[in-house]
Amino acid sequence: MSPTEAPRPGADLLEAYRQFPTASALLARDGSVAIANKRFAARFGSEGIALASCQAAIASARARPEGWCDVMVAAEGAELAARAIALTNRVLLVVEDAGEDVAAQELAALRERLARLENDTATDYLTGAWNRAHFDRVIGVEIARSEESRRSVALVLIDIDHFKQVNDRFGHAAGDSVLRELVGLIRIRVRASDVLFRWGGEEFALLVSGAGYRGAGTVAENVRRAVIAHDFEGVGRLTVSAGVAEHDAGEDAAAWFARLDAALYEAKRAGRDRVVIDRRGASDSWARQGGGAALHLQWMEGLECGDPVIDAEHREIFRLANALIDAAWGIRGASPRFAGALDDLIEHVAMHFADEEEILAARGYLQLEEHRRAHAGLLRRAREMSVRVESGDVRPGDVVEFLVQDVVSRHIIAVDRAFFPLFAPG
Ligand code: GH3
Ligand code: MG
Ligand code: MG
Repeated sequence: MSPTEAPRPGADLLEAYRQFPTASALLARDGSVAIANKRFAARFGSEGIALASCQAAIASARARPEGWCDVMVAAEGAELAARAIALTNRVLLVVEDAGEDVAAQELAALRERLARLENDTATDYLTGAWNRAHFDRVIGVEIARSEESRRSVALVLIDIDHFKQVNDRFGHAAGDSVLRELVGLIRIRVRASDVLFRWGGEEFALLVSGAGYRGAGTVAENVRRAVIAHDFEGVGRLTVSAGVAEHDAGEDAAAWFARLDAALYEAKRAGRDRVVIDRRGASDSWARQGGGAALHLQWMEGLECGDPVIDAEHREIFRLANALIDAAWGIRGASPRFAGALDDLIEHVAMHFADEEEILAARGYLQLEEHRRAHAGLLRRAREMSVRVESGDVRPGDVVEFLVQDVVSRHIIAVDRAFFPLFAPG
């Protein structure tokens, strides 16, 4: 199952929370209201509760992690009695009214369930995106998989511009629905294999695998454009800023996220409604080391003659030629790595030619003499080129071209076919 298709285990509980009879809110770390239940929204509306008193409530709750604490909050120009308790990431605030105080038991049950929800579920209960805890669990695996398979992986960090004003002007419920709409907008614009996480309050991280910073930059730009073209219900036009960073070879998660954060910060600083790409990543390192990967020789079953020795040696020629292609990448003159790869290949080809001639002789191959001459000619030219590349007369690319064209394409793939009938079964 793709992680984006997972059910939303928190949806029922969130609904139960919304219907909870006493005004209650889940506070984010900064003291803002992350989720308000219906009663809270109806009672405090867009005015909300004074931020400073929410922050004080968070401090009290965190100082007393084992249970509820009594706090006072400022709202409607008065001080109201409330209770607060710390969950894993958020603080649950319950504002009590004389006459409709909820039984302690009910509160305890609510708290227990919300805490479990925060810890156990992989999805964010407001938007249905994967949550930060899940991100932390999977990111190490993603990095390892990328390094092993040499498939790039990039992150896009998307942050709504001036989102606080949305809450301030239209209320938290409108803010919440903006978050859900944004998730919907992003989802229809990305591939099924891209994974969306709620990174923090109004920040979303999109994990794009199989793409470097260029590809992920295009995805980010598409999202940015989709947002400016969208009319958010009851709110209107909004913009987002995004940072893009591709994982770099050998880099740990923290260093990668630091570059990602810096790119987003730069997008904000430069005026918002833009994408800033950190132009660094493993895709470039791999291209520098072995960019020839795109031009590698590909072994095919149809190249097998049926003799196990000849076939194994032909495969080895392909492998060594690919190593030579990698070693030649990006260099104009001789290099020790290139010289080593060339020696390995020529030595193996010489041995292979001798083995092949012996096997063909044993089978009574009629065109053996002609074939021997072809081998000798190829080997002589290969050795000459190897000397001339050392002296600088010939470029590594020319040597690669000769070996691929003359030795592999013309000889192994075409000329050798003439002896295949010798090994045909029956
Ligand atoms: P900037 O352009 O610099 O990003 O400004 P901003 O106002 O978007 O950013 P800031 O980080 O100052 O404020 C983020 C706000 O997001 C504060 C908080 O109230 C709000 N927020 C966080 N989580 C939620 C949520 O779950 N629901 C709602 N409605 N608001 C949330
Ligand atoms: Mg923002
Ligand atoms: Mg922010």
